[in-house]
Amino acid sequence: MKSQEIRTKFLNFFEGKQHLIVPSAPMVLKNDPTLMFVNSGMAPFKEYFLGNAEPKKNRIADSQKCLRVSGKHNDLEEVGYDTYHHTLFEMLGNWSFGDYFKKEAIAWAWELLTEVYGIDKDILYVTVFEGSDDADNLKMDQEAYDLWKEFIPEDRILMGNKKDNFWEMGDQGPCGPCSEIHVDIRSAEEKAKVDGKSLVNMDHPQVVEIWNLVFMQYNRKANKSLEALPNKHIDTGMGFERLCMVLQGVQSNYDTDVFTPIIREIEAITNKDYGEDEKVDVAIRVISDHVRAVAFSIADGQLPSNNGAGYVIRRILRRAVRYGFTFLDKKEPFIYRLVDTLNKKMGQAFPELKAQKQLIENVIKEEESSFLRTLDQGLVLLDKIIRGSKTKEISGAKVFELKDTYGFPEDLTDLILREKGYTYNSEEFKNALKEQQDRGREASELKSDDWTILHHDEVEEFIGYDTLEAHVKITRYRKVTSKKDGEMYQLVFNVTPFYPEGGGQVGDKGYIEDKHGDVVYVLDTKKENNLIIHFTKNLPKLKDDVLKVAVDAKQRHRTECNHTATHLLHHALREVLGDHVEQKGSAVHSKYLRFDFSHFSKLTVEELRDVENFVNARIDGKLQLEENRSVPKEQAIADGAMSLFGEKYGDNVRTIRFGQSIELCGGTHVKNTSDIWHFKITAESAVASGIRRIEAITMDAVKDFYFENNRAYFEMKDLLNNAKEPVKALQNLQAENLDLKKQIEQLLKDKAKNVKSDLKNEITNVNGVNFIAKKVDLDASGIKDLCFELGGEVDNLFAIFGSDVNGKAILSCYVSKNLVSEKDLNAGTIVRELGKHIQGGGGGQPFFATAGGKNPDGIDAALNAAKAYLK
Ligand code: ATP
Ligand code: MG
Repeated sequence: MKSQEIRTKFLNFFEGKQHLIVPSAPMVLKNDPTLMFVNSGMAPFKEYFLGNAEPKKNRIADSQKCLRVSGKHNDLEEVGYDTYHHTLFEMLGNWSFGDYFKKEAIAWAWELLTEVYGIDKDILYVTVFEGSDDADNLKMDQEAYDLWKEFIPEDRILMGNKKDNFWEMGDQGPCGPCSEIHVDIRSAEEKAKVDGKSLVNMDHPQVVEIWNLVFMQYNRKANKSLEALPNKHIDTGMGFERLCMVLQGVQSNYDTDVFTPIIREIEAITNKDYGEDEKVDVAIRVISDHVRAVAFSIADGQLPSNNGAGYVIRRILRRAVRYGFTFLDKKEPFIYRLVDTLNKKMGQAFPELKAQKQLIENVIKEEESSFLRTLDQGLVLLDKIIRGSKTKEISGAKVFELKDTYGFPEDLTDLILREKGYTYNSEEFKNALKEQQDRGREASELKSDDWTILHHDEVEEFIGYDTLEAHVKITRYRKVTSKKDGEMYQLVFNVTPFYPEGGGQVGDKGYIEDKHGDVVYVLDTKKENNLIIHFTKNLPKLKDDVLKVAVDAKQRHRTECNHTATHLLHHALREVLGDHVEQKGSAVHSKYLRFDFSHFSKLTVEELRDVENFVNARIDGKLQLEENRSVPKEQAIADGAMSLFGEKYGDNVRTIRFGQSIELCGGTHVKNTSDIWHFKITAESAVASGIRRIEAITMDAVKDFYFENNRAYFEMKDLLNNAKEPVKALQNLQAENLDLKKQIEQLLKDKAKNVKSDLKNEITNVNGVNFIAKKVDLDASGIKDLCFELGGEVDNLFAIFGSDVNGKAILSCYVSKNLVSEKDLNAGTIVRELGKHIQGGGGGQPFFATAGGKNPDGIDAALNAAKAYLK
């Protein structure tokens, strides 16, 4: 059975059981501080499990792209070494939100596997939670056990401990026991030797878990205790690639048709064969896996970068490059070439991949090139470290520095060291790494109390499109603590005019006021699991009263000007540059806006001017806002509305239209473009290969900008004695300056000549060597010239000069080349030793070297000591 068909059968089966089939949500999460990527099928439905939102239907099924490379679920280091863990994989799932529970979940899972897919019952095992005698004191899941008994012999039902069979969403929140389904796909021979039962959950590559059925029936509170959930839920997840392995009768996920086309392509590009050498195989698996993770992340709008989710993606790609570099001898970019094959295989099911193929290739290629350069540099540095080391063990701190500062991976360092017969102090390395991680963790750790619920059954309503003020009730609040912000409160209202950060637009600020006029400031607003959360430093005293709240109107209006301008800019870019322009990120603040987009070259001055003019023409055109709060998504797209890859949209969307510009957008906007007054681009730059960034300002900020420029202009004009043509006056001044510089240079040269002839007279002969040690009034390059000129005229010269340049001491030594060997004089050694007098150090070559130091008072002592070298 082909993978495509396997996926379809799953979805059709649950559609037949009255499930709503939904597409995979984007993999990169934007509104969840606890999670960077979707790491299991349930992540996009968290708000339903928490009861913060209503699902469209209480039965849903899907295939969800998951990424397990950070945080609680991190399989990255396994990937490549085993045959059934991936970074990116598809999780097939069926969900019940307060609808069916264990009975149906178990019966349907069994029906699907054994009847629809026809898996032999004799290769299946199931596990049931055995209970726990810890603080939770949970009973064994007898209910699940009895249900399984109907389908499978009891000796195939195994008891599982809390680690494997009790599933928790995070430190807090819904949780419950689970039942896993395992397959044993070993040969009959193997099975006869070792009982499959003993291999379940033992990391055996052919006895693996394929499906996990989670029965959510508890809620974990902040004080760690459990309470029963009022509504019980089902959350299941089946690994698609593992299922394909079973149904296609192969022994490894990598031998399924999900991976074989990519592996064949890697073989063709690298001239290596899969299945002959374990090291090569690992590398091929790593690369075939990682290219999927990276390509899908970029398609979902997450580019590799230096922090956060972007950094995780960068590290995955670098891991792939490293394996190619080390085990497949690929010293030039090649991973980007696999995107074509990947797209042929998956572009149909995932249109975001197809649409952005060119961009994905460009970004990957550029990342590969830059990391290969890093590797080259690292090799040189490592070589230096090896040469400089007195022992065969390199310091762990040095290896850490290579990794941390230069991005050179420690496993590669290790490999190279071992090849050359060296080792490094791994204890020291680990300590340095741990110290760094601890620092990072402390800074970002956020502790939150349980919510205190003041009013139940109130669904928070956003009214901030229509009003900036309201009277509200606090429905729930909690305290959160972090190193960065200290203690803060998070408040949720029944209704709110505060816009929560999202779609690039910053969250609103403002205040809460009680009937006595006591005020608490709202410092930020964010959305989390569908709740609009207001951040304050204190809890309002009269928290149970109806309170007046107001959004900072000025900041909101400035932000709106920038948001509308962002739409006009997007439109302008597509008109001026072409339809290939796709939005790749935006930041809409009150003071400025930033817009990232795909385009392959730097914008010319003319293009920038055209874009600015285009936007300003629409501002002058006084275009009225046409807002539609609820349009079917298909219709909006058909009307030409711009949507973004990696954004999660509902069935009904909000559209914002100004003239020809239509976008799907949840942000806030001006009523008329004339509010924006003027649009000005302040910067244009590259963010990554094929991605440009424009920064711009509007309204007040433009006024400030022109005002500042004007002030600077008049100041400059003033300094130029009110010249009629200041530019010309400045050019004259520059020319004059250049002329003066030349004259000074000449004068200094003449001076050096004079100094030289004076000094020549002071040279004395000591034991056949022409010697001089003298303090001079020259800078370092002057002294150097002097040394070489003297050396050209005087044979057998040993000269040492000191100088005090603006409070810093310089010491230079010159030795005629023949003296270096004949008299064993080495300028490098000499300045290093004499440098102690000036509290400094330096070096150079045997015939010329310079030291710099902090102590000019020591120059004389250094010069006096020089003669000793001739004894
Ligand atoms: P394992 O113990 O094999 O790592 P898990 O307990 O982490 O699995 P769950 O979190 O229960 O797995 O995820 C549900 C299903 O998703 C698993 O039964 C498995 O089929 C699949 N799965 C989990 N992790 C991966 C991965 N890294 N790559 C591919 N499939 C996976
Ligand atoms: Mg796992």
